[in-house]
Amino acid sequence: MPVKIGIPRSLLYYKYFPLWKTFFEGLGAEVEVSGPTTKAVVQEGVKLCVDEACLPVKVAFGHVASLKEKVDYIFIPRLVSVSPREYICPKFLGFPDMVRNSVHGLPGIIDTNINLYRREGDLYGQFLEAASPICRNPLKVAAALRSAVGELKRFNGRVESGMLPENAFRVQEEKFPFQAENRGTVALVGHPYNIYDNYINMNLIGRLDEARVRVVTADNVPEPVVNMYAGTLSKRLFWTLGRRMVGAAYHFLDNPRIDGIIHVASFACGPDSMTGDLIERRARRAGNKPFLNLTLDEHTGEAGVVTRIEAFLDMIDMKMGVDAGVGDWGLELGVGTQNTELRTQNSELRI
Ligand code: SF4
Repeated sequence: MPVKIGIPRSLLYYKYFPLWKTFFEGLGAEVEVSGPTTKAVVQEGVKLCVDEACLPVKVAFGHVASLKEKVDYIFIPRLVSVSPREYICPKFLGFPDMVRNSVHGLPGIIDTNINLYRREGDLYGQFLEAASPICRNPLKVAAALRSAVGELKRFNGRVESGMLPENAFRVQEEKFPFQAENRGTVALVGHPYNIYDNYINMNLIGRLDEARVRVVTADNVPEPVVNMYAGTLSKRLFWTLGRRMVGAAYHFLDNPRIDGIIHVASFACGPDSMTGDLIERRARRAGNKPFLNLTLDEHTGEAGVVTRIEAFLDMIDMKMGVDAGVGDWGLELGVGTQNTELRTQNSELRI
């Protein structure tokens, strides 16, 4: 019987699932992913995790707990750095230890260090270690890693071409559902586990889709574009996810095809408090697009979120009306007047 590896549908699952799945299957293992986040998953995570942690970490605890009786091993890599000369949030580094100390009755944990800070060449050694409970044949591991990296590149290519990750996972799908353009295009900016987990964000993408709004995210923006915009900061951001969010948000503010921006943040997230502020200040300065800041935790009420999204969409409608008549307005009032009006609306929404 093949070894069964559990992968929690949380945290960086939304960025690296194709790599992890292809790698373990290439070694002959069977991969089981935890189900979508539900109220029960969140409640279990909140029960097991320390109060001070952010919601995505609590949710990840719930996913680990949901897998523990179904698999031989759970893959919880100790993520230190996923890009040269950059780090990611320290919560990823401590997550395997937090889980080990708080969740009882766990199967084996594969908690390989992933640290690409110095050079990408270390990846092989790190995956050799991850493979050790299943296979110790270095050639087989190298072949599995090669095909996993190829799969990740193809996945990233599909996402950069405009797909959202859940759709890009399904390679065969010719069409993906978030295509409606009649009511404008909204950019969602936030950590992948906040914007793609429908339970955490109260089905934000689904709601926008129902409202006939096309959604794009930071993952749809190619790396060179992200780097170009992130490079306009006076100091280099050394958090990989934060750099991507800020670079993509600045690009969206500049891009006339984007009609509004929603920034999704986690309450109690240190990195979000800084990157969110950088994005909001730039949006305020630009003053040309509706901007909504949603901060979420396990106590956030759905009604409040829905009301704010509706108000934001009204602003999109108004902006598009303004844009459609820009020639007349430009002559009569000047573009600055329109901007001032939009800024006032933004401030109201943020309160
Ligand atoms: S970056 Fe923020 S939301 Fe993500 S794990 Fe760290 S503290 Fe939590």
